[in-house]
Amino acid sequence: MPGYETLLFYKYVPIADAPAFTAEHLDFCRQLGIRGRVLIADEGINGTVSGTAEQMRHYRNHLHADERFADMPFKIDVCDGHTFEKLQVRYRKEIVHFGVSSIDVENMRGTYIEPHEFVQMKDEPDVVVVDFRNRVEWEVGRFRNAVVLPIDRFRQVPECLPLLEPYKHRRIVAYCTGGIRCEKATAFLRSKGFEQVYQLHGGIIEYGKQVGGKDFDGKCYVFDHRITVDVNSVNPTLISHCAMCGTPSARYINCANEVCNRHFICCASCSEIMEGCCNNACRHHPKKRRYDGTGFYHKKAVINAPHF
Ligand SMILES: [Zn+2]
Ligand SMILES: [Zn+2]
Repeated sequence: MPGYETLLFYKYVPIADAPAFTAEHLDFCRQLGIRGRVLIADEGINGTVSGTAEQMRHYRNHLHADERFADMPFKIDVCDGHTFEKLQVRYRKEIVHFGVSSIDVENMRGTYIEPHEFVQMKDEPDVVVVDFRNRVEWEVGRFRNAVVLPIDRFRQVPECLPLLEPYKHRRIVAYCTGGIRCEKATAFLRSKGFEQVYQLHGGIIEYGKQVGGKDFDGKCYVFDHRITVDVNSVNPTLISHCAMCGTPSARYINCANEVCNRHFICCASCSEIMEGCCNNACRHHPKKRRYDGTGFYHKKAVINAPHF
C-alpha cells in the first residue's frame, strides 16, 4: 500500500489574474487526482492537500516550478490515507479573512523569529508576546504570559488595537498556529505605527517540533478532527477545565444537539453522563445526535471549518 501525505502551505505573493490562475490550478489538481482545499487570492495562496507520496511530490514540483512559489515551504505530514473527502480550489478576496484591504503583507510583515531564538527572546523584559488566535484556541493552550485577544474571528483583530496600544514602544512578538495569520497581523500593526514587530516563524507547531515547545501551556488547537495536539514535551501543563465538573481537561466536544452544536470543553465522564450535551435542555432536544464517545459530528463539523 502506498504511503499518503498531507501538505500544508501558504505564501503571500501578488497573483495577477488570480481567478484565471484558480481555474488553471483546479484543472491541474483534478488531473493529478488529489484532494483538499486550496484558496487563491490576489494576495497569495493557502492550502492543505492530500494524496499519495508520489502525487504530493508532483504537486510540490509543480508549484516550485512557478517562480512566484519557487521558495514556498511545504509542511509534510505522513498519513494512512486521504485527509480530505473532496477537492476544493477557490478564488477568495483574501487567503485569510481579515477585512482590512490594502495591507501590504509582503513588504510590511514583522521580522521572523526562529524557534531557537524565540525560546530566549520571549522572556526578555521589553518583549511582549501576543497571541493572534481566537478565544477557543487560546483557552486550551497558549504561551505563558502571552497577551491574548477577546476574539472569535481573526477579522476582529483590528477592533483590539486599543488593547495593544500600551505596548506600542515595546518589542512585540506575534504568534499563531502555523504563522499565516501573524504575517497579516504584524503587517497591520506596522501600518498602525508599531515599530518593533516580530513573528514566530512557523508558529506554535514549528516551535513544538524544533525546540520541544517549552513554556507553551496547555495544548495547541488545530482545525481538523484531532482538535488539539500536544506541542510541549519539556514542561507540559493543562490550563483548561471541564465546563461541567471543573476538572482539568482539554477535551473539546460539540454539543450533541445539532441545533446547539456548541463547541466546549467537557471531560470524558461528564460527556458520558450528559450524552454529549452542554445542558439538560439540549439533552432532551429532538435534534439530539447519538454521542459516540468523540463529540465530533461529521456532517455538522463546524469545528473543521477554518474560522479565521
Ligand atoms: Zn467533567
Ligand atoms: Zn447544547
